[in-house]
Order: sequence, then structure tokens, then C-alpha cells
Amino acid sequence: MAVKLDGAALAAKLKEHIRAEAAALPRSPALAVVLAGEDPASQVYVRGKEQDCAQCGIRTQTHRLPADVRQEDLLFLLARLNQDSDVDGILVQLPLPGGLDPRPVLHAVSPEKDVDCFHPLNVGLLALGEPRFLPCTPAGILELLDAYEVPLRGRYCAVIGRSHLVGRPLAQLLTGRDGTVTLCHSRTKNLSALTRQADVLISAVGRPGLVTADMVKPGATVVDVAINRLPDGKLTGDVDASTVEAVASFLTPVPGGVGPMTRVCLLKNVLRAARLRRR
Ligand code: NAP
Repeated sequence: MAVKLDGAALAAKLKEHIRAEAAALPRSPALAVVLAGEDPASQVYVRGKEQDCAQCGIRTQTHRLPADVRQEDLLFLLARLNQDSDVDGILVQLPLPGGLDPRPVLHAVSPEKDVDCFHPLNVGLLALGEPRFLPCTPAGILELLDAYEVPLRGRYCAVIGRSHLVGRPLAQLLTGRDGTVTLCHSRTKNLSALTRQADVLISAVGRPGLVTADMVKPGATVVDVAINRLPDGKLTGDVDASTVEAVASFLTPVPGGVGPMTRVCLLKNVLRAARLRRR
């Protein structure tokens, strides 16, 4: 039976450290959140981030904009937040309402305040192995694996999903830790032949039941990044946990695995932004 990689418990511990570190700064760190439109999931995510920050002594200011906000008004707000010396980190909640191109918006966030690590400069620094900020979900996964002493050096890692948010930066971080990485996607041929070799298998697709027990090497570590809502309202990942837990040695639950670690890594980035700006 696989050991549960308990992201919720680890995140709670890490938050205590972050709270202590934030309290030791001369001024409490501040995160500006930009939320455009009424997307219900985004509202929930933003509320969660506000609560996390409050628990750790990080101030937040949330800028709520109507769904029909003009791009230039959004860019004007970001320019103002970039200049505001009382703001350490800026986060634009995605997805943006239809009609808004996320790229110029994300590129308009100052790289020094880009706590989501979406700005091309920060993406480039990460690719060079000299990150200013670590992208939250990949960093959270590595921190969880480290906490359970899952070795990465020389291990074969299969990542399913090649998004800029998760799969690609995760492949870079795993490579940086001396893992041997295959990045799989919707056009990958013989997916299960690759995943069956993996010592560490990470799925970030968004398709319930994609990863079944026959795709998992006995004793592997399996990380389920996905968050899917089933018709009955329950959350589930990509992994068929009921069968995979009999094969894997470690498995993340959904919820309570990668999600809380992603959230805690955002807090770490805000703290880091605050420190970097004070140097
Ligand atoms: P995304 O941008 O939609 O990317 C999905 C990836 O999955 C794409 O690379 C796609 O391939 C690949 N894919 C689709 N069908 C596939 C298949 N049948 N076999 C293999 N690969 C397939 O999604 P994302 O933003 O990375 O998010 C992925 C999941 O993680 C979602 O469920 C999301 O909610 C969740 N998520 C969770 C957290 C967290 O904190 N836990 C954070 C971020 C995201 P192509 O590139 O070929 O289209």
C-alpha cells in the first residue's frame, strides 16, 4: 500500500516557518492580486490565497475588475502596482476573461514582483538554472518529494503534460536535480510503455482515470497534479488511486497533495520578493 505524500500536513508546517520569517522582516510583505471577471473557481482560488497570506502575516490587496475591463486599463493598473514600493509581489489570477490576451498582461508584471514566475525573464532564468523565483506547482512538488526523501538523482522521471504552468518547468527542475526526464503529452506514442519505466511518475493533464495501475512501475512514486471536479462535485486527479495505491510506494492524494504545496510556494515567493527588494 502506497505511503501518502501528505502535502496538506507539510504545507501547514511550512506556513509556520513562513509566518516567523515574515514577522522578522522590518515591514510585513505585501501581495497584490488582480482578479478580472466573475469566474467562480478564480474567486475561490483568490479567497484561498488571501486566507493563506493572512495566516502567514502577509498583507494582500485584491483588485477586482469587471469582466469587460479594457486591456489598457489592466496594463495601467499593473504599471501602478509595479511602481508601488509597498507592493512586493503581483499575481494576475488566470484565466482572464475572454477577449483579453494573457501574454502582454503577464509580461507587464515587473520581473522583480512576478511571484508566479510567468514573466519571460524569469522563465529564462529558470531555464538557465539561475531562478529568481521558482514556479509554484513544480517547486511544491519537489519540496514534497524532498520531505519524503524520494531520490531524484539518476532516477527516471516521466512527466505527463507539457504546459508552461506545470510540465515544462517541472521537467527543468527535475533535470536540474539530476533526474532523467521524459516529458509526455497528448501526441506521445506508447505512453504506458514510458510511464511503466518511471521511478517517479507525475501526471498533470486534467483527465480522471488517465493513469491506471498497469501504467505504474511497482514501487514507483506517483504524483497526481490534476484537479478534476466530478459530476457529483467530488475532486479527483488523473490517477486511478484505488488501483495505483497497491502498486506505487508513494502517492499524493487529491485533494491534499500538490494543491496545498502550490499555495505554500506562492507564499515563499512573496517572502522572497520582499527580501530581494530590500537588498
Ligand atoms: P493544460 O495546460 O491543459 O495542459 C495539459 C497537458 O496535458 C497538455 O500538455 C496536453 O498535451 C496533455 N494531455 C492532454 N491529454 C493527454 C493525454 N491523453 N495523454 C497525455 N497527455 C495529455 O493543463 P495544466 O494547466 O498544466 O493543468 C493540468 C492539470 O493540473 C489540471 O487538472 C489542473 O487543474 C491541474 N493543476 C493543479 C495544480 C495544483 O496546484 N494541484 C496547479 C496547476 C494545475 P498537449 O500539450 O499535446 O495538448
